[in-house]
Amino acid sequence: MSFENLGLSAELIRAVAEHGYTTPTPIQTQAIPAVLAGGDLLAGAQTGTGKTAGFVLPILQLLTKHPAPHSANGRKPIRTLILAPTRELAAQIEESVRIYGKYSKQTSTVVFGGVNINPQIAQLKRGVDILVATPGRLLDHQQQRTVDLSHVEILVLDEADRMLDMGFIRDIKRILAVLPKRRQNLLFSATFSAEIKALADSLLNAPAMIEVARRNSTVEIINQKVHPVDRDRKRELLTHLISTNRWQQVLVFTRTKHGANRLAEQLNKDGITALAIHGNKSQGARTRALAEFKGGDLQVLCATDIAARGIDIDQLPHVVNYDLPNVPEDYVHRIGRTGRAGASGEAISLVCVDEHVFLRDIERLIKRDIPQEVIAGFTPDPRAKAEPIQLRQGRGQQHNNGGRGNARNQPGGGRSQGRGVPGASQSRDRHPQTAAAKPQHGQPAHQPARIATPAATPGAGRKIVYRAGGRGR
Ligand code: AMP
Repeated sequence: MSFENLGLSAELIRAVAEHGYTTPTPIQTQAIPAVLAGGDLLAGAQTGTGKTAGFVLPILQLLTKHPAPHSANGRKPIRTLILAPTRELAAQIEESVRIYGKYSKQTSTVVFGGVNINPQIAQLKRGVDILVATPGRLLDHQQQRTVDLSHVEILVLDEADRMLDMGFIRDIKRILAVLPKRRQNLLFSATFSAEIKALADSLLNAPAMIEVARRNSTVEIINQKVHPVDRDRKRELLTHLISTNRWQQVLVFTRTKHGANRLAEQLNKDGITALAIHGNKSQGARTRALAEFKGGDLQVLCATDIAARGIDIDQLPHVVNYDLPNVPEDYVHRIGRTGRAGASGEAISLVCVDEHVFLRDIERLIKRDIPQEVIAGFTPDPRAKAEPIQLRQGRGQQHNNGGRGNARNQPGGGRSQGRGVPGASQSRDRHPQTAAAKPQHGQPAHQPARIATPAATPGAGRKIVYRAGGRGR
């Protein structure tokens, strides 16, 4: 299969070829013709599968083929709106629009929070064809009437499951309410919880449905290892591993923002260059840290789960779980940062006695035991007793705000009530003592995402006509 066979125009094929793509990925093979056909789409795909090009390429083609029928006060109307959960992902999508649209005439911009709104206002005033946005900042623009969404023809919800996890459902509904009724809707999600199915049901009209396996499965490409260690010797062990193995680019996950900050400080004291990246950092600091890390000037990036989400670094060789995540699916998301695009990668977990329950849940999810290796000099004390790990009340508090200004994150601010899907905090923030319960949400991420079927989803078949490869409208 080639990009030519998918019906893409010469300009788009030239741009992807220059970018180094020779063959479409499975999601692209399925999504591109489905989007070009003009109907709605429900796609099960994770970051790393090439999903961005799967929707950006056909959108560029559709917009070019059908010039804008409207003109909003003499400016270009926004014809495509792409919503993404995090600033990083939104920025990356818009970068892709520019890359793939190099020879197309479509213009684009991105809006997200944490940065000055005025340049965004100026850019929106000039008019763009494609707007990529995080929900919070988009609503800010909507309220200030600095964005006109009344001519949107195509809506994309990317990483819809994460958007719901992060409590964006109300924001999304408010955005949907101002869009024209008649439009093409594309929904991408890695997992299909009841909330996603409900959203798909209310949003999509007889969608085509596609699903792909992860491009890198945890079990195939990534070399996973657990190093048992005492809780208070983790930092020492990490420094030892980085120094003795001469690791130059390591993404390290911590459970909390505070933990990420503290670890980065300690590593710097050990002579290892490290920065933390999480939702409390300004957008400028996050962008700088990521650029330094990508550029090879920074050895270690200490990140929380959400901050790292969507970060796309080609050939990232090492991922370290400094703390194991209490949500087993997060383990799969984390280690998926390495071993991309067929490159082999290594995922190391430093596990202390407190985290044995988390490890058991992870191994159950990925359906295999992760090999354990005690590093000489770091043998854990066999008499050590597990202590409960303090988990926060609502997982949402650990997230960055996906684009909103900090003021909204204050207690009593607009976000606090909308955060987290009902029951999410119970199901996701499982205490070690109560962690025996199976994860409540989503689909094991190591398996191909399964699209809802009427049989599997009571009620979900009411409006959506589930037929594989079906075309909308
Ligand atoms: P995504 O899932 O959209 O975040 O893409 C993951 C990575 O795959 C990105 O680094 C893309 O540049 C890359 N990619 C997307 N499509 C292709 C392709 N057809 N061939 C090679 N790499 C690709």
